Amino acid sequence: MKRDFSFEFFPPKTAEGIEKLRATRRQLAQLEPTFFSVTYGAGGSTRDGTLATVLEIIGEGQSAAPHLSCVASTKANLREVIAQYKASGIKHIVALRGDLPSGLAVSGEFRYASELVRFIRERDHHLCLGGAGYPEGHIETPLREDDLKNLKAKVDAGLDFVITQLFFDNAFYFDFVERARRVGINVPIVPGIMPITNIEQLERFVRLCGATVPMRLVLQLERYRDDPDAVVQLGVAHATVQCMELLARGVPGIHFYTLNKSPATRLIVSALKGRVAGPPFPPGPSR
Ligand SMILES: Cc1cc2nc3c(=O)[nH]c(=O)nc-3n(C[C@H](O)[C@H](O)[C@H](O)COP(=O)(O)OP(=O)(O)OC[C@H]3O[C@@H](n4cnc5c(N)ncnc54)[C@H](O)[C@@H]3O)c2cc1C
Repeated sequence: MKRDFSFEFFPPKTAEGIEKLRATRRQLAQLEPTFFSVTYGAGGSTRDGTLATVLEIIGEGQSAAPHLSCVASTKANLREVIAQYKASGIKHIVALRGDLPSGLAVSGEFRYASELVRFIRERDHHLCLGGAGYPEGHIETPLREDDLKNLKAKVDAGLDFVITQLFFDNAFYFDFVERARRVGINVPIVPGIMPITNIEQLERFVRLCGATVPMRLVLQLERYRDDPDAVVQLGVAHATVQCMELLARGVPGIHFYTLNKSPATRLIVSALKGRVAGPPFPPGPSR
């Protein structure tokens, strides 16, 4: 199997969470991901946890790509975090604006992720930078074409690859990639997949990011609302079929939103073994 998968974690808050994530990561490491990425709370709220998680991953000989969000942060703060990442041997960063912690107004020295990307790129030509893309459009920007223009500006500021927001209908991804290529976005666009394992959690995510759940899947899930095992099986089956089609059509890799759990992602990636196609991602630093 080629090393074309990446797995996203969030930094755990408790000793028990840290221990659980350690076990999850060791299981997922057997699938030889390209890297593990670790999210970053807006305003630096998980700064220490993100760094500690990343250092542990690197310490065990695996690659890690920390996220870095700029909203509600100062330039001085961000400069410090980037320096820490680089001193730890980090080569990839996922650069984001970030979601505001609830109740906070927009603050900080950056309004958009493109400004963070430019800020990093002006100081470093070697880091490989990823950013977020939205197949169904970002929830704050009513017109998808405007969102795409904003993504183009972000890529032009120095992104090397894009990871998409989760989606449950591949048609949105393929259409997004086609439209992105048309406006001159030429970097790899890696699909982000979240296996459904829990209906309430799915409903929360969908409310937050606006992803469409195909009606047929909604009806199937509804039938098994009181049967958590069946929901997991359905979620794994749906994500596996999604990934098989994506790989068959040559996506550059697949990024899994694991929510710090391994069973669903392990089942899917195991089922996909031998089916990986297309060039590896992310590309080496190109600038
Ligand atoms: C792969 C991935 C990883 C993520 N990891 C994290 C994480 O670790 N921590 C976290 O807090 N959140 C994370 N998020 C969530 C993300 O922070 C939110 O979706 C956030 O609302 C937007 O972040 P962005 O980087 O896409 O922002 P941006 O690219 O800045 O876009 C935000 C909005 O502003 C619009 N916009 C951009 N530029 C302009 C402009 N010049 N003028 C007008 N409008 C503009 C865009 O169209 C979009 O609607 C992640 C999302 C994805 C897809």
